[in-house]
Amino acid sequence: MTNKSHPKYPHLLSPIQVGSVTLPNRVLMGSMHVGLEEERGRLDKMGAYFAARAEGGVGLIVTGGIAPNRSGAVKPFAGKLTNRYEVWKHRAVTDAVHKKGGRIAMQILHAGRYAYLPWSVAPSAVKSPITPFKPRALSGRGVENTIGDYVRCAQKAQEAGYDGVEVMGSEGYLINQFIVTKTNKRTDQWGGDYANRIRFPIEIVRRMRQAVGDDFIIIYRLSMLDLVKEGSSWEEIVQLGKAIEEAGASIINTGIGWHEARVPTIATMVPRAAYTWVTQRLSGEVSIPLVTSNRINMPQVAEDVLASGAADMVSMARPLLADPHWVKKAEEERDDEINTCIACNQACLDLIFQNKRASCMVNPLACYETEVQIAPTPTPKRIAVVGAGPAGLAFATTAASRGHQVTLFEASDTIGGQFKMARRVPGKEEFDETIRYFRKQLELTGVNVKLGCRADEEALSNGFDSVVLATGVTPRAISLPGIDRPEVLSYVDVLLHEREVGKRVAVIGAGGIGFDVAEFLTHTDHSGSPIDAYLDEWGVDREMSVPGGLKRPEGPEAPREITLCQRKKGKLGARLGKTTGWIHRTALRKRKVKMLSECSYDRIDEQGLHLTVAGQPQVIAVDNVIVCAGQTPLRDLQGPLQARGLDVHLIGGADRAEELDARRAFDQGTRLAAGI
Ligand code: NAP
Ligand code: SF4
Repeated sequence: MTNKSHPKYPHLLSPIQVGSVTLPNRVLMGSMHVGLEEERGRLDKMGAYFAARAEGGVGLIVTGGIAPNRSGAVKPFAGKLTNRYEVWKHRAVTDAVHKKGGRIAMQILHAGRYAYLPWSVAPSAVKSPITPFKPRALSGRGVENTIGDYVRCAQKAQEAGYDGVEVMGSEGYLINQFIVTKTNKRTDQWGGDYANRIRFPIEIVRRMRQAVGDDFIIIYRLSMLDLVKEGSSWEEIVQLGKAIEEAGASIINTGIGWHEARVPTIATMVPRAAYTWVTQRLSGEVSIPLVTSNRINMPQVAEDVLASGAADMVSMARPLLADPHWVKKAEEERDDEINTCIACNQACLDLIFQNKRASCMVNPLACYETEVQIAPTPTPKRIAVVGAGPAGLAFATTAASRGHQVTLFEASDTIGGQFKMARRVPGKEEFDETIRYFRKQLELTGVNVKLGCRADEEALSNGFDSVVLATGVTPRAISLPGIDRPEVLSYVDVLLHEREVGKRVAVIGAGGIGFDVAEFLTHTDHSGSPIDAYLDEWGVDREMSVPGGLKRPEGPEAPREITLCQRKKGKLGARLGKTTGWIHRTALRKRKVKMLSECSYDRIDEQGLHLTVAGQPQVIAVDNVIVCAGQTPLRDLQGPLQARGLDVHLIGGADRAEELDARRAFDQGTRLAAGI
């Protein structure tokens, strides 16, 4: 049913019938735990967060996972829906969304052996590799009770005003654990052959449909590619999909990879729409709408996926954290105004895994809708901002949108700051989108941008009520005999100034930028499909010839020999993002990058880098040494401006270079602008 009325996105923006409900477009906001689910009292913050997305035009929202009982929670005190008090709490969410004309389904998630609970349960007592507790095997009666809990949870969701539920049947949670033999060793009617192992999800959906009636949406998230050994075969997945439709599901959503899988499936280095081929395989096998997912972040990508027939709807979670008005902007063909999710995970999943509330690096207002508001200022000021990196851009555009008169000085001839380097790292091309977004925002908010203009004390002292120094950082200079030799480069020389680099390289410093430089120097351009290259490198089999969909990874050829060094003991990259550090380490190992810890650097000479590693002197013969030893702040203007009595603010790397990170920069810039 294609609505030809939208000239640019006829598939994406056409309505779709789901049971008795008509959704206005093909965008499903995918489930993502954001840390608001555990709020005490009414879920007002969660309501405001979803209401903003409903107002932005999302067709159907799905909440983060809510447990159907106490043993199914992902961690102690995680959100559950089992009683009348919790029904009342959830009313705040459904009311807020409905007031904005949106529709919302609640995801029911039982974590099984993935629960961080000593009382976790599973089909069999098989411990997961990613949680510390061995689960207790459910008794036959326990299985029946659990099915009853799913059904009760759906009824309570209906009572709370939800338009539907999503049954989480993927990502390795309880339902998945029933389906595959590696986690289901049962010999009763819930284990053994495949028909028995899938009885659990089928019974959940069948009994749920009976309990909630025909008009309530039931989405089933089907694990279509487990990415673990002994996962489901394709034939089994098709069989389950058909049975789930028969049992009464309204929509089938795509799940890719168990949490314990060692294949990155959503990080920024995963090409856009890299997994839609999986959903496409199921199309034609079932007649209810299919939703595809993973790394779909811009309207044209979504439109192309839908136009290809891969699915009926697209699921996006992080892109709607990044921009609540994504759909509206697509409708109005204002794509260049979309604040694109760059799949960094830095402010969303990385925080969730630290038990903190999620937000978004490029949109720090996400999940703080009730706490940080961007309102017109009653007292417009003339504000000078120095530096057009993440902090300066976030501040300048936010302050200008409030009605302040903002002048932005940038010494180089382009905006972006550290992002100009990040965007050059293979797999981080998405960072370009953020620069594009802010370029447009500068224009829309009327910031007076002065590129190629190094602001000095004199210029800043005249005509401004406040000065915001977002002057950033400079690479830390290290003192070492031979450090001034021509073969010694800084990461700025390599990533920004495109200096030539030889075949053998030592990198001093293994923080995020040391890793980025190593990645940059070990990639080769290839002409083929980026999706195929990624699938081959990480061992994902498009043919799904083996259950689970894995194959032997193909080691990429690296054009250089790199040695990455740090002074600390322990594994390199330990401070990288919780959800992405392992990917960076694995990617470099695939490229045969040598990683040395406990290094003490002695000197650099014509033989190379002399260092002592864990007490043993060594020489690494290299063509270049690249220094990635962190940064120091650039804030020379602060003292003189303050001495003149000016109102001066420091943000981003200029404020704190140690742990310079873009998340803090965007957040600090936005919050300062919200209050100034
Ligand atoms: P960083 O994370 O602070 O790492 C710099 C490393 O250099 C330190 O870990 C330190 O390790 C070493 N070092 C410091 N002083 C040194 C000295 N005097 N001599 C020799 N080595 C020295 O800084 P960065 O790599 O420049 O990254 C900057 C920020 O951007 C960080 O917050 C980082 O997390 C973020 N970032 C993250 C990513 C990512 O997550 N993928 C990518 C890029 C940047 P040792 O003392 O142990 O040698
Ligand atoms: Fe996307 Fe990064 Fe924002 Fe998460 S923090 S939503 S990955 S841009």
